[in-house]
Amino acid sequence: AILGHREAIQAINPATDLPLAPAYPGGDGEHVDQACALAWAAFDTYRDTSLAVRATFLEAIADNIEALGDELIERAVAETGLPRARILGERGRTCGQLRTFARTVRAGEWLDVRVDTAQPARQPLPRADLRQRHIALGPVAVFGASNFPLAFSVAGGDTASALAAGCPVIVKAHGAHPGTSELVGRALAKAVKDCGLPDGVFSLLYGSGREVGIALVTDPRIKAVGFTGSRSGGIALTQAAQARPEPIPVYAEMSSINPVYLFPAALHARAEALAQGFVTSLTQGAGQFCTNPGLVIAVAGPALERFVATASELLPACAAQTMLTPGIFQAYEAGVGSLTEHAQIAAKGMAAQGPNQGQAQLFVAQASAFLSNEHLQAEVFGAASLVVVCADDEQVRQVSEHLEGQLTATLHLDDADLARAQALLPVLERKAGRLLVNGWPTGVEVCDAMVHGGPFPATSDSRSTSVGTAAILRFLRPVCYQDFPDSLLPAALQHANPLRLRRLFDGQREA
Ligand code: NAP
Repeated sequence: AILGHREAIQAINPATDLPLAPAYPGGDGEHVDQACALAWAAFDTYRDTSLAVRATFLEAIADNIEALGDELIERAVAETGLPRARILGERGRTCGQLRTFARTVRAGEWLDVRVDTAQPARQPLPRADLRQRHIALGPVAVFGASNFPLAFSVAGGDTASALAAGCPVIVKAHGAHPGTSELVGRALAKAVKDCGLPDGVFSLLYGSGREVGIALVTDPRIKAVGFTGSRSGGIALTQAAQARPEPIPVYAEMSSINPVYLFPAALHARAEALAQGFVTSLTQGAGQFCTNPGLVIAVAGPALERFVATASELLPACAAQTMLTPGIFQAYEAGVGSLTEHAQIAAKGMAAQGPNQGQAQLFVAQASAFLSNEHLQAEVFGAASLVVVCADDEQVRQVSEHLEGQLTATLHLDDADLARAQALLPVLERKAGRLLVNGWPTGVEVCDAMVHGGPFPATSDSRSTSVGTAAILRFLRPVCYQDFPDSLLPAALQHANPLRLRRLFDGQREA
C-alpha cells in the first residue's frame, strides 16, 4: 500500500544540485489513518504467523531487493551522492541483515520462553503453572535515515527487526531518497503479496516529518517508533510519543561524537600509523556516519604532536566529497564554522570542486577549553574532528566524565597502557554502547553481539541496540499465561514443546 496525494517530495542530486524526477506526492493525516487502519487490521494475523512463514517473508524481501538490480543502485547513487561501490556494499548489508533476522526468527530464542510448572503440594500455598513468552508490541513507525538509504531506511535494520518481531511496519520515507524508497518499498510490498500476508503488514508514506511523521507517532494504533537522524528530530518524535494519552517507546538514534583515546605507549610507538588510520576513518563516506570519530583525546607531549602533524600532512590530500543533501552540507558548514570560532584549526582537506562538497577539517583544543565550552562537544555531522589535549591522566578522566552519551568509545593501547585503560573503563562503560580496542569506530557489524546504542543523546533509550539481532527485543513484550489448559496455550508454551525451543524450565535451561 503506497499512499499519498499532497505536496510533492522531490530528491535533489547533491552532485549537481538538480532535482530528480519524479516528484512524489506527499501524504496527509488521511493517509496516515489509512495506513494505520491497515496495519492494525493485519497485526493479529501477522504476529500469529509461524516462525517459518515469517522467516521466509524476510528472505523474500532480500531476494526482491536484489532482483531490482542496477536500477536501485543507480537511483540510490543519484539521490545520495554516495559512490556506487558503497551503495553495492550497503545493498549486501541490507539483504544480509534481512537474512540474519530470518535465521533469528527461525531459532525462536527471542520468544524467551520460561516455564514454572505447578506445585500443587507446596506449603503454605500451592504454586500455579506459569508460562511466559514474548509477543509483538504492535504496528511500528519507522523513520528512514538519510545516510544509509538502504541499510537504515525502508527495509533497513528497524524495519527488519520489527517485522521479525511480528510487528506491521509503516515507514515514513526520507525526503532525500524518495525514488530509492519507492523501489525498496515495492520490493517489500511484493514480498507481502507473494507470501500471502495481509496488505497492512507494510506501508510506505511520503510527506513532511512535522505533519505525516507526527500524525503517525501520535496515532493510537502505533505502538513503537524507530528513528535514525538528527538530535532535534529524535527529540521531537520522542516528546510527541510521550505526550500521547498512551505513551509509547521511541528508539531514536541521534547524535554521537565517538571519542578515540590515544594512550601514551601506543601513541609513542605508532603516532604516524594512528594518524593514518584516523584520517581514513574520519573521511570515509564524507564523514557521514553516526560512528565517525569526531573527538580524539590524549595527554600532551611529543607523541601527540607527531600524531597531529601527520594527520595535518595527510588531510590536505583528501578530496572534498559530495554530502547527502544540500541541507546536510549547510549543517556541516555551520558546525565547522562553530568549531573554527571555538578551537584552533590544524588542517583542512582539499577545497570543494562542486556543489555540496564537504571539506575535511581537523581542530585542536586544550582540555580546559573543552570542559568549559559546550559548543566543542556538539556533533558536526561530516568529516570534522577535534583533538582534545589533556595535561595528564586526571584531565583525561575529567574530559571523559564531561562527555555526553556515545555510540562508541575507542581505545588505542599497548600492554604498558592496560592499567590506564582499566582505570578509565568504568567511566567509558557508563558513557558508550560499544567499546573497541585498536580499531576505528566506523563499520558496524550486523551480528548477535553488536550494540549500536548508548546513553542520551546517542539514543533515546540506552537499553537496546538498533543494529544486530538483539534489535528485535525493542519490539517485543512479555506475556505470562497462568494455569492455561494445554490446548489453549500458544505452541511455544505447550507441554510437548512442539517448536523445540530451549526453554528455561523450572529454573534449568533445556538442552
Ligand atoms: P532529520 O532532519 O532528523 O530527518 C530524519 C527524519 O525525521 C525525516 O524523515 C524528517 O522528516 C523527520 N523529522 C525531522 N525532524 C522532525 C520533527 N521535528 N518532527 C517530525 N519529524 C521530523 O535528519 P537528516 O535529514 O537525515 O539529517 C539532518 C541532520 O541530522 C544532519 O545534518 C546530522 O546532523 C543529523 N544526522 C545524524 C545521523 C546520525 O547517525 N547520528 C544520521 C543522519 C543525520 P522531514 O524530512 O520531513 O523533516
